[in-house]
Amino acid sequence: MNNYRSGFVTLLGRPNVGKSTLINKLIGEKITITSPIAQTTRKNLKGILTTKNGQIIFVDTPGVHKPHHRLGEILVKNAKAAINGVDIVIFVLDSSKEPGRGDKYIKDFLAASQTEFIVALNKWDLVEKEFKELRLEQYRSFFGNNKNFLIVSAFEGEGCSQLLDIVFTFLPEGPKLYCEDTICDQPLDNLLSDLIREQVLINTREEVPHSVAVKIEKIEEIKRKNGKNFTAILATIIVERSTQKGILIGKKGSMLKIIGQSARSNMSKLIDDPVHLELFVKVVPNWRKKESRLLEFGYEEDF
Ligand code: GDP
Ligand code: MG
Repeated sequence: MNNYRSGFVTLLGRPNVGKSTLINKLIGEKITITSPIAQTTRKNLKGILTTKNGQIIFVDTPGVHKPHHRLGEILVKNAKAAINGVDIVIFVLDSSKEPGRGDKYIKDFLAASQTEFIVALNKWDLVEKEFKELRLEQYRSFFGNNKNFLIVSAFEGEGCSQLLDIVFTFLPEGPKLYCEDTICDQPLDNLLSDLIREQVLINTREEVPHSVAVKIEKIEEIKRKNGKNFTAILATIIVERSTQKGILIGKKGSMLKIIGQSARSNMSKLIDDPVHLELFVKVVPNWRKKESRLLEFGYEEDF
């Protein structure tokens, strides 16, 4: 029998290339939120996969991009810190597009820091048949001929088991670092608040962009005599402007209702219990520029 292996793997890449979706697929559980909006992921969340051969701890990072404000700076700093001391980095790219400047920035950064990495060309399902060969050529010349890369689809699962096999070859022999049934390193309220933020991003698209934070005020297990227990969750959605508050609430509360319903359903799946969710919206001007607010809403430097 092979010896047990364990170690840390960081996923790095431009925003929106599918890093979080890929981690969910590899782990087989929804622990990290995804959306078509760039910068959905704000923390270096760890997702844990335990198999009979070993344990992989995946570190999900916000996409690396040029920072525009304090929150952006923390995001980029954390992404860069997340490659320190890990056993291998997976550089994720969006193969439905040609390699771009953002990819080059990351490639150069990895080269400069002499970080060993595996390349995963994600979203291969989106590449039309007649373009597949051309796209491979473009990536071959981008990385140089001696660099191998894997074609994957976080949607369809293509290439995912090969990716895991390769990752394992980079891990040192070692014991389990987390107990078997742990799939995530984040406290529950972080996961819950992210499930709400995900629905805000998905449903309001570009209108309420990144100025949104969610604070879980209360989580309470309600026991009822008839045995139909449930978890009551109270949360506040924080935005920067009152116009954004208006959009979030919607006509007669219609938007908030949609957000609440979808978030509640994902929360129930996560905690395996019916959920009653109560949502409030609050305006806190410029919260992203204020250190104390960033801390209050759970953003801090991870190192
Ligand atoms: P991240 O910013 O790199 O973490 O990207 P996300 O995981 O949030 O994904 C960004 C968007 O790409 C989401 O809308 C995903 O559903 C979508 N996506 C991710 N992986 C794939 C894939 O393999 N195929 C397709 N078609 N879409 C994908
Ligand atoms: Mg992400």
